[in-house]
Amino acid sequence: MTLNMAKQAQRPCQSERRSSGAARGDYEACVPYKKVWSLLVAAWKSTSLLLAMTPFLCRSLKLPDSGGAMLGQAGSSSGDCKDIIIEGGTLLSMVDGQLPLKNVSIVIRGESIADIRVRDPKSPRPRNAQIIDARETIIMPGLVNAHGHTAMTLFRGLADDVPLKEWLFEKIFPAEAKHLKKETVYWGSLLGCVEMIASGTTTVSDGYFFQDATAEAFDRAGMRALVAQGVIDFPAPGVPDPRENLKAGKGFIEKWLHFSDRIRPGLFCHSLTTCSESTLRGAMEISEEFSLPLQMHLSETSQEVNEVFLNTGRRPAFYLHDIGVANDHLIAVHAVHLDEPEMHLLAERKTRIVHVPESNMKLASGAAKTSQMLKMGLKVALGTDGCASNNNLDLFQEMGTAAKLDKVFTSNPVNMDAATVLKMATVWGAEVLGLERDIGTIEIGKKADIIIIDLEKPHLVPLYNPFSTLVYSANGADVRDVIINGRILMRDRKFQTIDTDEIMAEVKSISERIKRTSLC
Ligand SMILES: [Zn+2]
Repeated sequence: MTLNMAKQAQRPCQSERRSSGAARGDYEACVPYKKVWSLLVAAWKSTSLLLAMTPFLCRSLKLPDSGGAMLGQAGSSSGDCKDIIIEGGTLLSMVDGQLPLKNVSIVIRGESIADIRVRDPKSPRPRNAQIIDARETIIMPGLVNAHGHTAMTLFRGLADDVPLKEWLFEKIFPAEAKHLKKETVYWGSLLGCVEMIASGTTTVSDGYFFQDATAEAFDRAGMRALVAQGVIDFPAPGVPDPRENLKAGKGFIEKWLHFSDRIRPGLFCHSLTTCSESTLRGAMEISEEFSLPLQMHLSETSQEVNEVFLNTGRRPAFYLHDIGVANDHLIAVHAVHLDEPEMHLLAERKTRIVHVPESNMKLASGAAKTSQMLKMGLKVALGTDGCASNNNLDLFQEMGTAAKLDKVFTSNPVNMDAATVLKMATVWGAEVLGLERDIGTIEIGKKADIIIIDLEKPHLVPLYNPFSTLVYSANGADVRDVIINGRILMRDRKFQTIDTDEIMAEVKSISERIKRTSLC
């Protein structure tokens, strides 16, 4: 199946899509349906007969029919024509100061959360509502994976137990040069989406190459994503001439900027040792021009810090500050070897941090001073990094690791408690990515990105403290249902919208080619 074929098979008429850039062809194909819908809406206001017919018409046109409240919204991408009501269960809203709320009823209308209340079995349900029985579950915001290279699922297990420099320059870069192209990035990204959705991640911040393919894969899977075009001063997959890297990045942003509310573009500078000063400055100028975050690996290893110091005479954070790149657009990933003055500086500049503990541990990069950064006022999110250095995308495992690593590192079991770690993976993740108005908590009016955790598992019994259970006992496989943007993507652990067998078969086939040429 070609990319375009896959796209068309997946997307009949998603009304969240706008009219510019990459989506123009699809949008125009949707226009007749949109016109029909506009006429239907106009008639609906005055005709009770049409009101009665709406569920039928809606199903025929794959458009929302959930009542007047929908008319003021951008529309639903769900293809579902009913309100969704999650009934029963304990709500962990992640709203500051709100305690877990038992036996809730949450109404999802279109893309958003329309109502939250304690369930009253006597109150009437909206007509045609789709009910999700959530008794014996925890209902919480979908997790935010604040840093990854999703298509690196292709290289999962290709090079383990080697030093970072050898891992990167002798294993990963050559494998990427040989095997990355639009099709492989597309299928690798889709596999990553399957893995993330199956383990409760609903938003990912990705930085890689061939990002058109990544954005297409995220869109097909139904993920919410910040998709950042990789910028590096070497010939890179898809950008063979490094002099074109910023131009390619800006072109990518312009192409995807208005594509969808779910998919946002951006830039990702690989690191201070692989990007020159002018590249870093240029990437920040573009990010500021479009009001988008700029992602960057920062101070991952002590060797990197030494190299920057030798080249610039300054430690990395001060170097970034002096060239005008340390500000609130910057998302610094890893941040393992920041010293105290650097942490103060970044806190002052409102630079955001992403902690990727398992990748840092696996490549022996070190342990970030996460609890100290939080005390200094830095906003810290949680990420998995790519699958070749983790080697999975399960944020539940990452949460447990983040908590335990900090305790080991600081010799203090009080540091990095479960509730703090859960904030890093939800509400603070949303803030770091600049998406806090839409996601990160479960509140009326926010986008319906919700996961439901099945508590009927031996390792989750008994339940004294839901934060503790989620961080220290649960794993991704305990996620039962996943809703993104009001659309049910996984129900009772079964994917509702994508064929996971097809995706795994495609990646297995790609991996055979990788095995033949990259393993020796
Ligand atoms: Zn990374």
